[in-house]
Amino acid sequence: MVEVKLEGITKRFGDFEAVKDLNLTIKDGEFLVLLGPSGCGKTTTLRMISGLETPSEGRIYFGDRDVTYLPPKDRNISMVFQSYAVWPHMKVFDNIAFPLRVKKYPEDEIKRRVKWAAELLQIENLLDRYPGQLSGGQRQRVAVARAIVVEPDVLLMDEPLSNLDAKLRVAMRAEIKKLQTKLKVTTIYVTHDQVEAMTMGDRIAVMNRGRLLQVGPPTEVYLKPNSLFVATFIGAPEMNILSATVTEKEGLALEGDGFTIHLPEDFRELLLDHIGKDVLLGIRPEHMTVKGVSTLEHVTRTAEIEGTVDFIEALGTDTIVHAKVGENIIKVKLPGHIPLPVGEKIKIEIDLDNIHIFDRDTEKAII
Ligand code: ATP
Repeated sequence: MVEVKLEGITKRFGDFEAVKDLNLTIKDGEFLVLLGPSGCGKTTTLRMISGLETPSEGRIYFGDRDVTYLPPKDRNISMVFQSYAVWPHMKVFDNIAFPLRVKKYPEDEIKRRVKWAAELLQIENLLDRYPGQLSGGQRQRVAVARAIVVEPDVLLMDEPLSNLDAKLRVAMRAEIKKLQTKLKVTTIYVTHDQVEAMTMGDRIAVMNRGRLLQVGPPTEVYLKPNSLFVATFIGAPEMNILSATVTEKEGLALEGDGFTIHLPEDFRELLLDHIGKDVLLGIRPEHMTVKGVSTLEHVTRTAEIEGTVDFIEALGTDTIVHAKVGENIIKVKLPGHIPLPVGEKIKIEIDLDNIHIFDRDTEKAII
């Protein structure tokens, strides 16, 4: 186990900066998820940690060891890729044993370790098969077994579940998480899937356009996003974003198309520089309810706006009410099956302690 420290990492491909001034410490034994849209620099970051790529600027440390220019073989890391990358001409046993043979382990130690890894991944009964005789999920288990068999200091995973079908992905998500908790190996896991990030990571590092935007435990990133990008990238259905102006007619308020939301006085200090200005208001669908239909639990301060039911999305366990407020469509998530008629006038109750206000220009969170 080892702490991984990235200090001022920049990676250029020609003139293009794929990663810009990245500073991040992954703690000893931590499961850190690098999350972001396609092309944001996640894989490039992982490849620099592995040694497959060298940074244009900055340093990478494993504990006290500066590994910035060390080749992958000298870093004691293992990688698991999206494409399982298991060798088709080798039996499962030999696939898992391969990194141990490269390191010239004695044969009895190889047997012991392969058995240990195969048991952990529940593939003991597949050791005599060829990869062609395995399902995608089983092949990915072989790839994970091969990665952990050397007991790496750092385990690097690049979208390892994205080739699996949805059901298997959910099952493997839990298994990889449990395995990592058991082994306590420092793990860096790349994904663009926010649900994977939320459910697996001890912390999530959100990247966009080569920059690290926010890093924190899943609930913190979800409930206290520091920017419009993080707020809208995480959460499904997405956070509602409404244009509004901060006003002071009858106390502090947010006024937008079809709504006025009166704000508690303790918001004033944070909004002082924005009075009279346009901002973006963010509210997650589950931080609102429809009055008379459902109630918000553990909520102390609320505001109310009026709307009309535009569309109902019945998800089985939940209902998403699309409400028209002025020209805005606001999504409200209600527990259970709520068959509200389209066109019905409703009162939407908002949890004021869970609203977000973003600066219109910088898109940074004010509240
Ligand atoms: P994805 O999820 O699609 O893999 P990502 O977040 O992992 O995306 P990277 O693979 O790190 O993104 O790529 C970041 C950017 O750097 C992309 O715009 C990509 O085209 C560019 N890039 C990556 N590798 C190279 C390279 N060897 N030469 C030139 N540009 C590259």
